[in-house]
Amino acid sequence: MGYIKNHPNEQGHFGEYGGSFIPPQLQTEMDKITDAYYAISKSHEFITELRSIRKHFQGRPTPVYFAKGLSEKYGGRIYLKREDLNHTGAHKLNHCMGEALLAKYMGKKKLIAETGAGQHGVALATAAAYFGLECEIHMGEVDIAKEHPNVVRMKILGAKVIPVTFGLKTLKEAVDSAFDAYLKDPVNSIYCIGSVVGPHPFPMMVRDFQQVIGVEAKEQFHAMTGDQPDNLVACVGGGSNAMGLFSAFIEDQCDIYGVEPGGRSLNLGDHAATMTLGTPGTIHGFKCYTLQDEQGEPAPVYSIASGLDYPGVGPEHSMLKDQGRVQYVTANDKETLDAFFELSKVEGIIPALESAHAVAFACKLAQEKKRESILVNLSGRGDKDIDFVVENYGAEYGVS
Ligand SMILES: *Cc1c(COP(=O)(O)O)cnc(C)c1O
Repeated sequence: MGYIKNHPNEQGHFGEYGGSFIPPQLQTEMDKITDAYYAISKSHEFITELRSIRKHFQGRPTPVYFAKGLSEKYGGRIYLKREDLNHTGAHKLNHCMGEALLAKYMGKKKLIAETGAGQHGVALATAAAYFGLECEIHMGEVDIAKEHPNVVRMKILGAKVIPVTFGLKTLKEAVDSAFDAYLKDPVNSIYCIGSVVGPHPFPMMVRDFQQVIGVEAKEQFHAMTGDQPDNLVACVGGGSNAMGLFSAFIEDQCDIYGVEPGGRSLNLGDHAATMTLGTPGTIHGFKCYTLQDEQGEPAPVYSIASGLDYPGVGPEHSMLKDQGRVQYVTANDKETLDAFFELSKVEGIIPALESAHAVAFACKLAQEKKRESILVNLSGRGDKDIDFVVENYGAEYGVS
């Protein structure tokens, strides 16, 4: 795999993107994590333990499923990689277990992170419980009020939820608060980023841990069909589930599509289509496509799926966009809701609203490419979204 080996380069650059733009004290800590990752991740013991965790705790491999009903209706042959069946109901546990295992090998006692909607917080709290590590999740007060079930989950799993009470009291302030807490005790703690974003080595490390999705899917798809998929589709927030799938196929012939949230409209503030509508810039310590306001600050973003509303994106995606290897497209709220109900009724699978963006685009693509296969990464299950969807949109879809 020449591609993976050569990306990022030693400084953590994916083409002109990525890198590390952070205060010196934090850089020292990131360098330690990088060195430890390079050393430990190649050890037989680490690899064996991670494999065993994936099999016995997470329930991997997750299946690839032929979506017969959708394929009959839209044309094409649509397959789903079922990350919704991964323990905790989404792909996020793939990198959280990896990060926590690294923490254990580095002798750390505490995992620290921020969370927006609480999905990353829950996955990390799960990993901390598994390894008997302390876990501290920083979360804006506004988000705590909005995401009550996930706050309770984190607490049941033994994590400490720290309310962030300054600024807008949402994700951005939670990041600042978590970084401060980490810098107070970098010897005993480690900061765990929730996607393929942030300074080097996180975009690489999270990609590597998520690569299990693509590696499994490639083998499973071949066993089912004797062939390679013609098209890949995944939703893109920070971009971890997408990179997990795409990375195993970059050097193959297939067409690859990343689906961003088109939201309510394509006006700034109404979407989070970072690559479709953004420009290169720096955010949270790395370079990538960003959505910025007139002052050059991260712009407010919106998506019906809270896991996708980030004004930046992984540096590797930014490079793959410029290279033209991956095409980035959008699905709006309406198309996403249609897909949410469609997959539920036609296949008996309630998708996460994030994943429903990918399903929406795949159904469109299937109508254009009727003779081709499409492998969709179903990044998570929709149980977390049902109350919100039914309260706000149930009547339109005959569910109330
Ligand atoms: C968090 C989340 C996403 C978005 O994160 P990526 O890093 O872009 O994968 C997508 N799907 C689900 C189910 C999520 O929980």
